[in-house]
Amino acid sequence: MAESITILGSTGSIGESTLDVIARHSDRYRIFALTANTQIDKLAAQVEIFRPRFAVINDESAAMALRALLAEKGLDETQVLQGEEGLLAVAGHADVDTVMAAIVGAAGLSPTLAAVQAGKKVLLANKEALVMAGHLFMQAVKDSGACLLPIDSEHNAIFQCMPAGLSEQLSRQGVRKILLTGSGGPFRTTPLAQLPAVTPDQACAHPNWSMGRKISVDSATMMNKGLELIEACWLFDCSPDQIQIVIHPQSVIHSMVEYIDGSVLAQLGNPDMRTPIAHGLAWPERIESGVASLDIIATAQLDFEAPDFQRFPCLRLASEAIQRGGTAMAVLNAANEVAVQAFLQQRIRFTDIPDIIEHALAQVAIVEPQTIAIVQAADAAARTVASTFIAETLAVIT
Ligand code: NAD
Ligand code: MG
Repeated sequence: MAESITILGSTGSIGESTLDVIARHSDRYRIFALTANTQIDKLAAQVEIFRPRFAVINDESAAMALRALLAEKGLDETQVLQGEEGLLAVAGHADVDTVMAAIVGAAGLSPTLAAVQAGKKVLLANKEALVMAGHLFMQAVKDSGACLLPIDSEHNAIFQCMPAGLSEQLSRQGVRKILLTGSGGPFRTTPLAQLPAVTPDQACAHPNWSMGRKISVDSATMMNKGLELIEACWLFDCSPDQIQIVIHPQSVIHSMVEYIDGSVLAQLGNPDMRTPIAHGLAWPERIESGVASLDIIATAQLDFEAPDFQRFPCLRLASEAIQRGGTAMAVLNAANEVAVQAFLQQRIRFTDIPDIIEHALAQVAIVEPQTIAIVQAADAAARTVASTFIAETLAVIT
């Protein structure tokens, strides 16, 4: 019988790529539920093609509008749910086998955890959920027996280069270190003096990957690599000093694993998220993803550089947060989300982003994250501190 799939965040970049792969394999997969924040028309168009049992949208007025639209198209067999309650219902539903966690940001934590707690196969794109609540998240995976598969391209690459999945400690697998690659984003060589004036569109113009706007800004500040460092520590049960960040501008190698015998395994491919998505969907089998064959001759050159912590202070802040532990990572993540949103709305400069995060990390008390409620309280406190700092201290750009 076909595998039953919920896509949390189906209207986003990862959501659409997931549907693209699934559409190639209607014999293997069927869509159980699709969810979106606000994009009613896009969600309705997806419902029309994939005919899910449920569609979830964020608020009540959007749900009413979606119901009307689906009725108009004769698609009322799809039931419309709303808000977090709806997300939790379709993430943990007994009839679901696999959940693609592709909501952006902290909003994805609760539904992703619900899928984990229900013991689903969870394809994790929503790195923020793991950054915020890594310890509790991984404990929930152990307790429920959920199958957690990384979709972030670097983590998926590392997973593919590992001998025995995620659960064993690195040293027991003969691994010396992980080499986490990153392109360096659109501002890798931009003169530093120009960075305060860069626009959201410039920040979102990633040289190799096409992605949602939040992760695109994270790539430009390299907070994305910082979040990925934290993500890798939780997924592969290791410390940050076992991970070397390597700048690799071509994004052809997606990460590497070095073994104690000196072997270094790398996963290569075109920068297209359908490869890790197809890998996660079919694992341990392989399926077609629609990604073009890598033209290694045309690629010709692969470059590597050390990361520049001066140019990218967010990288330093993420490293410090993981060393500090506790709720520092939830505070880092929440302050970053507030700062990135303010930058995208042109309320602050690009170079204000790390200052806001640093301020929040200095102001919010860091505690042991013993429960999800504690993590959520840290997240809320960091959002308040960051928003106040923006409103009171940073000039509004006109
Ligand atoms: P996106 O902005 O394109 O899409 C986000 C999705 O989440 C949309 O469907 C949106 O409707 C939904 N959403 C947003 N806010 C929500 C809320 N408050 N409640 C419910 N739903 C909400 O983002 P994306 O680029 O697809 O990224 C999704 C996740 O995957 C992020 O965590 C990102 O870091 C991670 N990721 C993305 C890529 C990529 O290539 N795009 C690569 C690696 C990891
Ligand atoms: Mg990545």
